[in-house]
Amino acid sequence: MIVPVATLGVLGGGQLGRMFTLAAHRMGYRVWVLDPDPASPAGSMADRHLQAAYDDTAALEEMAEACAAITTEFENVPAETLEFLESRVPVRPGSKAVAIARDRILEKTFIRDLGLPTAAFFAINSAADLAPACEALTMPALLKTSQFGYDGKGQIGVDNLEQARLAFADLNEVPCVLEECVLLDHELSVILARGVGGHTEVYPIGENVHVNGILDTTRVPGRVPDEVAQQARDMAAKLAAAMDYVGVLAVEFFITEDGRLLINEMAPRPHNSGHYTIDACLTSQFEQQVRTMCGLPPGSTRLLSPAVMVNLLGNLWLKGTPRWQYLLAEGHTCLHLYGKEEAREGRKMGHYTSLAEDPKQAMLIAERVRAAIDPAAPDDEYERDD
Ligand code: AMP
Repeated sequence: MIVPVATLGVLGGGQLGRMFTLAAHRMGYRVWVLDPDPASPAGSMADRHLQAAYDDTAALEEMAEACAAITTEFENVPAETLEFLESRVPVRPGSKAVAIARDRILEKTFIRDLGLPTAAFFAINSAADLAPACEALTMPALLKTSQFGYDGKGQIGVDNLEQARLAFADLNEVPCVLEECVLLDHELSVILARGVGGHTEVYPIGENVHVNGILDTTRVPGRVPDEVAQQARDMAAKLAAAMDYVGVLAVEFFITEDGRLLINEMAPRPHNSGHYTIDACLTSQFEQQVRTMCGLPPGSTRLLSPAVMVNLLGNLWLKGTPRWQYLLAEGHTCLHLYGKEEAREGRKMGHYTSLAEDPKQAMLIAERVRAAIDPAAPDDEYERDD
């Protein structure tokens, strides 16, 4: 077991690395961040920011030397980097689990082979795979790149073989999955933490709404029957156990209009839809990342209050300075800004979480705050409802 004041390492210095750093610091650990970006949100608060590429052997050597354990904030770290570090120091989650989660073909095949439900899909490794896949699937379908897709990027909707061929060419014929489009009723996610010995703590289910492919809100608990929530939580735990996973795992689900629960994808790290855990749970997903990488048992995932998390994208800043005074005047809304200087459309700049006695009330507060902080809104539109 690794205890404070040991030094922990994180690959990637974005907002996830930053919130990891905050959690580790609160617990008394030191943190090293590896990120080539000089303006990295986590690097600026780390004990050491190694400004180097993810395949820079000298930097990796230095990190392995200094850190008692290493984790990652994103799945697209080169496989060789994780393997290199793993031969020197505990890396959690390990390279094998990250390799599965990073690649849609491996991931969906792994899920299906475990007997867990996904939307019907086919691996597309070359143009020749398209015809049999289109034949077998009910159209419309989505062609998704197997790697490097996020926030809905690298995905093209297709209605027939001809469109699928054009889409595959548009995606530079990189390996893809062709996946049936399902009619979505809800999108849900389950976050869990699994310790070295297999001890697993699962958070309550969150209900997610995406806008333009990017997460907009997470409402907890999600509006699903208890038995469906339990099924989803069990499936997530089964996936983690099958990978002998150590760390925080996020699993995204679809509930279809005809009531099927399907696994969409997983992320081998804390997830945007788990940010509410910082303010609304006994243990945050970032503290769980610290605990599990240190070989400590995961903490309780108990929900202390229903919550709604809202993402703050750069779009808001492009209209002027957000009117934080109105958010901060709300007694039960917590603001998290990631210290990014440049606001761009779609860039995640921060989030806030509104807490209330029931999720419906939390949603009302969150939407009221959203309207109030908009730089383009007239001043007198905002009235606090005490
Ligand atoms: P992904 O990158 O796979 O998480 O997809 C991004 C978003 O696209 C999801 O959150 C869904 O809103 C939508 N989506 C992805 N796959 C499907 C599908 N098979 N059927 C319907 N909608 C989908």
